[in-house]
Order: sequence, then C-alpha cells, then structure tokens
Amino acid sequence: MFRYKSHYTYFLIVSLFLFASCEHPRDTVSTKNELLIYLDTLEQAYEEACIQTGMANWNLYSGEAVHNLDAAKAKFAKIFLDSSNKKLIEVWRGKSSALADDTLARRLELWWRCFLGGNIYSDSAIAANENYLQKKITNFKFSYLGNRISLAEIGTRLRVEQNPKQRKNYWLITSQLSDNAQDELVELVKLRNEKAKQLGFYNYYSLSLFLQQIKEDWLLKTLNNLEEKTRANFQEFIESSKKKLKTKKFHPWDFDAAVYRWASISDSHFPKDSIFPILHRFHKNIGFKVDSLPIKETIKDIPFGGLNIGINIPHDSRYLLNPITGKRFYNVAFHEYGHALHTVHTHIRYPILKGYEWIPGASCGAYAEGVAELQAEFVNDPEWLRTYTSASQDDAEKYVATRTFGDLYYLRRTLKDFFFEYEMYKNPDQDLATLEREMYKKYLLVEIDSTMPHRYASSIWYTMYPCYYQNYILSKMISAQVYEVIVNKFGSSKISNPELSGWIIEHLYANGEVQEWYERIRNTTGKSLETGAYLRTLKIMD
Ligand SMILES: [Zn+2]
Repeated sequence: MFRYKSHYTYFLIVSLFLFASCEHPRDTVSTKNELLIYLDTLEQAYEEACIQTGMANWNLYSGEAVHNLDAAKAKFAKIFLDSSNKKLIEVWRGKSSALADDTLARRLELWWRCFLGGNIYSDSAIAANENYLQKKITNFKFSYLGNRISLAEIGTRLRVEQNPKQRKNYWLITSQLSDNAQDELVELVKLRNEKAKQLGFYNYYSLSLFLQQIKEDWLLKTLNNLEEKTRANFQEFIESSKKKLKTKKFHPWDFDAAVYRWASISDSHFPKDSIFPILHRFHKNIGFKVDSLPIKETIKDIPFGGLNIGINIPHDSRYLLNPITGKRFYNVAFHEYGHALHTVHTHIRYPILKGYEWIPGASCGAYAEGVAELQAEFVNDPEWLRTYTSASQDDAEKYVATRTFGDLYYLRRTLKDFFFEYEMYKNPDQDLATLEREMYKKYLLVEIDSTMPHRYASSIWYTMYPCYYQNYILSKMISAQVYEVIVNKFGSSKISNPELSGWIIEHLYANGEVQEWYERIRNTTGKSLETGAYLRTLKIMD
C-alpha cells in the first residue's frame, strides 16, 4: 500500500548490514557521511511508525478496518526509548555548526526535540494512565432525570432551551463525570510534570511549549493582551444578551443560548450535499489541482466536527466530516481540507522535516491549525459567501455584522480553558474547583456559586490533547494575519485568482519544518505574529 523512495531502500539495506555486522552499529557513526546514512535509516523507521499510527487512527475513526494503535506506538517506543540513539543525536547536535550543512543541522535539532517529546510519548506509566482515563471519559454514561443523555444532546439543549433553570440543570450534567475523574486527572498531570522535570523543564506545560517553539513569556503577554482588549466588548455582549434572554443575571449556562440567538445566517445557504462540489470548485478556481490530489474525503458520524490525518506525507491525506448543519459545516470542511492541502503539498525529502503530528517536537500545532484555518477564512468572507453560496449581499453583510459576539465568546472561553490548564500544571495540588470558578470569573465574567459542583475533569482535552488550547487562539491570529496579506496582494480576485494556490504552497506548505514556524509567518506576512489582524476580525482596533 505504501511506497518508499528508492534511496531509502538502499540505506535500509546498508544499515541492516551494519546492524548485522557488529553489536554496536551506532558507534560507527564518526563521519558526516555515516551520520547521513544513520539519520536516513532512523527516519525511515520513524516514517513507518508515523504511517502506521496514521492508519491506526484513520481506522479507529473511519471504522474501515481493525485498528492497531498499540503496535504503532510500539514502533515509536523502539526508536525513542533507545538511549544510544538519543546519545548519538545529542553528540552530533552539539557539533552541528561544524558540519556546514543547514538541513542536516535542522534534522539534528528536530531529532533532539523529538527525543524529549518521544520520551514522554513512549512512557508506559503515562500511557497507561491516559488510556484508563480516556476509556473512562468516552464510556461514561451521563444521565438526566434517570435517562441517558449524550454530550451532543446536552449541547443542543443548552442552545435551544428557553427556561434558564433547565439550562442550569443541563449544564451541571457533566459534573457527574468530573467528580469521578478528578483524582486520576491530577495524577496524570503530576506524572507528566515529573517526567518534564527529569528532562530539565519547570513543568509539563513549559516543556510542551518549548517543543512547539512557543515562547512562554510572549504567549502569556499575548493572551493577556487579548483578554484586556476584548473585555469591554465581551461585557457588552453579556449585557445585550441579558436583554435578549430576558434574564437579570447572566450565568455560565446562558452563553450557548445567547450565542445561538445572535446567529444570523440561514442554514439553507449551506446544503450538506453541496459541500464537496462547492469546495472543489473554489479550490480549482484559485489554482489547486483538485482532481489529482491524493486526498480522500468521507462524511461520517464522529464525536467531533472533523478530522484530517496526514497519513503518508505528501502521498496520502484523508479527512472525515461530521454531517452537522449550517455554515459551521462548511467552516469545518474548509478547515480540514486546509490540513489536507498542507499535507499533500509538503515537498520535503526528510521524514523528520515533513511535520508529522504524532511526536511532540516534530511540528507546531498552532501553525498547522493556523494554515488549516486560513482556508476557513474564505467561508467567513462576504464576497466568498455571495459568490459560492446562495446568500445575498444583504445576508452576507448581516452575517459579518453579527458574528462578533460568537467569536468573542469563543476566544474568551478558550482563554478560560487555557489558563485553567496552565495554572493546574503549575500547582496540581491546589483546589482545582476554586481555580475553575476563578477562571470563569476572570475570562467569562460570570460568577459560579461555591456550592456548585466542578466540571473541569470531564473534559477529554486535558487527558488526550494536553497543553493544546493556546493553539486555537494562535491559529486564529495566524489565519487572520495571513488572510490580510492575501487580501492586500490579491484584492477582490482572492476568491478566483489561479495564482493564489502557488503563493500559499510556496509560502506556507512546501518547505515543511525546514524553518521555525514563526520565521515562516514573518517571511510570509512581513511581520512577527501579533494580535492586530485577529482583533480586527473582532472589530477591535489595536
Ligand atoms: Zn485542525
């Protein structure tokens, strides 16, 4: 099913010979040439593990075949738990400036980071804990008045329920699980912290940010800046929503209902069965060779909006879409297709520089999310809406005028989630229920009574996607900043100019991880990543 380039086969044969001929083959790496052969071999094994992990994940979610995640994980463990590999990378990384080879130095740097990340990824105690908690969370049966209720159903009811007392009851349902999972979550956090400390980092959050090359003090400054700049407008959203919902006091369970009532573009403009024809027509118009790209697309009921898996970069990318209703479906489809376009246009020979997502240190999640979200920016553009959907000019403008409240809520809710997790890793022994209430107050400007049960440990995110929330904010900053450049460069032809694809591929996709993600943003947009463009999408002038 998978084909490798022929030079890999050659190196594999050479290395097999080396492995067979002496007991410590890695001691033989004493020249640059030997290092190149060694790295090529290592990267072939790495890519095989990536592909197997990708396939296992695809099978898990698509249900196309039996999945074997454990076998895939074992392949990574073989690489990353081998201390002689680690040592060799460390030694050569220390000498990399003398090698006079930028690509080789970059490979060594990313390998060094992946040995930090891979060490935690392959830690059996952490994995056992994660698996246990993941099963507990995904298998948990929520109940309401003695009847089972799904998370999706709770979400729908929170949006449409008119009675605030009922909304409160729905909102509290997830506390059934939180109470049940809190001790194990804290244990997992402590295990991760312990491991990070062994590797020389302050805690697991700091390590995670380092591996993605996100500077921690810059991040905190940036997020605090977003909080300050959006506070007044968010307060205004709450005040206006009180009137809309006819309630004197605004509570955390009122947000979804409020945002739902401000939503303003008809679902009828986004028919489900037109998604692929519309998406393909648009991407063809901006120059992508849509018909010949190795991208597979499937619609299936999954427990989240969508998912793309870059299985074999750049030869095989596949995405799944959950058939949700309305404009959000189009946003998710364009976002996932953005991931797929990124995958199949990465033209880098070396697997460690291709940006596979599995091992922390091999890529930056914020960047990957940002360039995927860039495609979804088109679906938010009034000109695009007028051209590619049945929305009229009036519909499109009305939508742009009213979407801000929902966007503000998304930002501030993500800030709440981020800071809760960030503070939890700083001190897992603190009273986390109190911390959760404080975060609601600071970022969502609502009070929660101290008698109210907590909900934080019911989230699968803290278990399965740790230290990830900042990426959803940084990705919005990235997509907004790049989109402004596209608007300036291509003007109104931005939705039909066949040269746009070439520009995107060259600036954002082709070179994989050869440069740091923040350098790619600086080279593409002429400035470092900042909050200005994102705030402008929220109608706030920086
Ligand atoms: Zn994504």
